[in-house]
Amino acid sequence: MTRLAGVIFDLGGVVFDSPIDRIAEFERCRGLEPQTVARLIRSQPGGGAWSRFERGELDRRAFLETFEGESLEAGLEVDVSALLDDIESAFVVRPAMLEVIGRLRSSGLTAAALTNNWSPMSDLPIAAHFDVFVESVVEGCRKPEEEIYRRTLDRMGCEAGGVAMLDDLGENLKTARAMGMTTHRVASSASAIDWLEETFGLELMP
Ligand SMILES: [Mg+2]
Repeated sequence: MTRLAGVIFDLGGVVFDSPIDRIAEFERCRGLEPQTVARLIRSQPGGGAWSRFERGELDRRAFLETFEGESLEAGLEVDVSALLDDIESAFVVRPAMLEVIGRLRSSGLTAAALTNNWSPMSDLPIAAHFDVFVESVVEGCRKPEEEIYRRTLDRMGCEAGGVAMLDDLGENLKTARAMGMTTHRVASSASAIDWLEETFGLELMP
């Protein structure tokens, strides 16, 4: 039914709970406008503290200082350490997604994780669920930069046209789509699994 040979999974908001939900809660609890954090991150395209942290260019302390500085410049006082703690509290696996990844692999597909992160995870049990595990903090590049998608495809042994990618951020899927991948923006595990079943013509849920 399909010519697809592999699937790339984002972690946060796809295989793990959504960090975006935690950020929204952080903003609500501290009286910040919705989307404040996203706007701060986007206000420094390419070279901002957030991106540098995810490329492994800043350690945690340097990141906290730099990002707090960027926030102050934008007129905001943000407890960045508490923000990171809240985001990290979303690193909770969605068991249904692990089940589905196992079934996709059993059916002969190659499964990759492609994550923007700031703390290496390849020694954690989660990495064993994938054939290929690619992390921005290790690679020194991050989504949506094309380079990190190239490296992922190379390690999978796949062409872009033979791969589906799931991510909860549209911005990350833009690059994937431009390279020729089939993409799905994840809103919930249930809808993601429906999409995978339809796309691969497989029964994935028990
Ligand atoms: Mg994500």
